[in-house]
This record gives sequence, C-alpha cells and structure tokens, in this order.
Amino acid sequence: MLLFLFLAACSGAPEEVIRISGSTMGTTYHVTLRNPGELRAEELKRQLDYQLVHFNQLASTYIDDSELNQLNRAPVGEWQTLSEPLYNIFSMSLEVSWLTGGAFDITVAPLVDLWGFGPEKHDGRPSDDAIATAMQDIGYDRIELDMLEPKLRKKAALHMDLSAIAKGYGVDAAAIWLESLGVTDYLVEIGGEMRVAGSSPRGDAWRIGVENPGGGAPTLAIELGDTAVATSGDYRNYFEEDGVRYSHTIDPRTGRPISHSLASVTVLDPSCAFADAMATAFSVMGTKRTLELAEAQNMPVYLIEKTEEGFVSRYSSAFKPYLSEHLQEEN
Ligand code: ADP
Ligand code: MG
Repeated sequence: MLLFLFLAACSGAPEEVIRISGSTMGTTYHVTLRNPGELRAEELKRQLDYQLVHFNQLASTYIDDSELNQLNRAPVGEWQTLSEPLYNIFSMSLEVSWLTGGAFDITVAPLVDLWGFGPEKHDGRPSDDAIATAMQDIGYDRIELDMLEPKLRKKAALHMDLSAIAKGYGVDAAAIWLESLGVTDYLVEIGGEMRVAGSSPRGDAWRIGVENPGGGAPTLAIELGDTAVATSGDYRNYFEEDGVRYSHTIDPRTGRPISHSLASVTVLDPSCAFADAMATAFSVMGTKRTLELAEAQNMPVYLIEKTEEGFVSRYSSAFKPYLSEHLQEEN
C-alpha cells in the first residue's frame, strides 16, 4: 500500500485543472479545463497548436498561400473546391449577411486594405475615388456556394476576409475537439471570443467579465451555462486622424469605418462563430437596429454606448437572465 502511494506520488498526481495558452491568428488563446482525466497539458497544447497552425493555413489573409488567398486569386466564374472548415465558415458568413441586410460582409477585404486594417497596416484616410473604386468589387450576394459539395464560385473579382468570424470558428472547433476527448468542463478563448461548458475550476458556473471600454474594472460580470460569447469594440483596433477615430469595422454600404456611438457589443450564442460574426454586424448596425433585430430573433445582446454623460449600457430581453439583480434595477 505504501509503495503504491509512493509510486503514485512519483508519477505525479492526476491534474485537476489544466491551463494552456499560446498565440494564433495574430492574438492569444487560453484554454482552461477541469477534470482532464488522463490528458496532460503539454500534449494537449502541442496538438492544439498543430491544429491551429493548419486552420490558419486555410483561413488567414496574412498567409500568402493560404487557401483563402488562393480563392481570392482564383478566376471569376470558375467553381473552386473548398476545405470543409472554409465551406462551413462561408455558409455561416452568408447566413449572417442575409440576416443583417449586408452589415456583415466578408467581401469587404478591399476596403479593409484601403483603410489600412489588412495585412499591410497603414494610417490615413483614403480618397473618395479610391473608396468608390474599391466598392465596385464588394458584395456577398456575388458568392455562390454549391448545395451538396464544398465548392464556391465568385461572380465578380471578390476578395474575402474572414477575420470577423475566424476566431469564433476556431473556438468552436477547439471546443468540439476537447469534447471528443471526453472533456466536459472547459473554457476556450481566442482573442476575447470564448466558449464555455460545464463548470469552472471552482466547481460552479463559469463567470466572465465584459470589458469596460473606458478601461479599468469590467463593467459587467455574467454567469454562463454552455454557451459562447463574442465582443466587438471600437476601442481596441483603430487609428485617429484630426480627432476622428476610425474603427477597423467597415460599413460595407458606405465603404467607411463605422462612426456611431456604440462602444461595445456582446453577443451570446451556442456557436462562437455565429456570435463573433453577429457582434461585428451589430457594430455596423448601431444601437437601434441591433436591439430591433435582437428582439425579433430572441438573441441575448449587451451594448455599451458612448454618450455625453459617459458610457450607458443597453440590452435585449433575452440578455436579462444574465444580469445581476442590481443591474436589472438600474436600467
Ligand atoms: P471585433 O472584435 O471588433 O469584432 P473582429 O476581429 O472580430 O473584431 O473583426 C474585425 C475585422 O473584420 C476587421 O479587421 C476586418 O478584417 C473585418 N471586417 C471589417 N468590417 C467587416 C464587415 N462589415 N463584415 C465582415 N468583416 C468585416
Ligand atoms: Mg467579430
């Protein structure tokens, strides 16, 4: 018996919580899981990094020979065969585009580049002519997907950018992979987009903080069941010129960065890819249209608006159960 205990101590007691982190998609990732059984942190990280590198090779605009960039260079009108992840991302992107009347549009790549938020970073406002020219090659309704096979055809010289949905898709893919290994309690986060299941290391529900656009302590802490959370904000990625702040989120209908009072949008959904894309779409749509669509679709959405009196929060009915009683009274 004593010997057995001794051996158990030598081989290391089973870990109850594993935490791994690393970098991917130009940002960082964090994974926390509870009750990992036989799984070991080092081996999990090795496998996750390997899969994320391969995923980037499909979906990144920053890798010259990625599958996405090859599609971007592919001739107009010819069917191209896609990998399954790209096909799934394209399907969901189009769904979000139709749902949001084009506020979300992965064909904004020429505008993203023009405004300096693409692979080649630069500041400065482009000319109206340059914007008008770039807008000629934009439009999600000119992407055709085959119904039965993973194939895509461009009906114009489109350039696609999956940055507003790829992190969410990566989170979903990692979560599904962990579940396939028997993990039931986890948090997966890439660049602020996350998905949780089961319970936290403390043994109770996962709690996350919604970042305060003004800096400092989180504005709101929410308790989550098995769900994903994505946040878009104009305060993280932008440039300023003549006192005007230009966000990296582009309104595809004006060809210009969004310029309204919405400082942050948080969306909850079982799918992190969907939540990620919707958070970007809602940033484009602004407060009024966001709340209308969120009510119609019964989606939990939490907004932080910039006003003269400071930051004010708004939320849809479906978000109410996530608020503490204190906050519900305040609003
Ligand atoms: P955020 O966390 O602010 O939503 P994301 O990284 O999810 O940021 O998405 C922003 C990126 O998506 C931009 O850098 C750009 O590459 C791309 N993008 C910008 N505007 C749109 C849009 N209207 N629809 C889809 N993608 C967009
Ligand atoms: Mg997004």
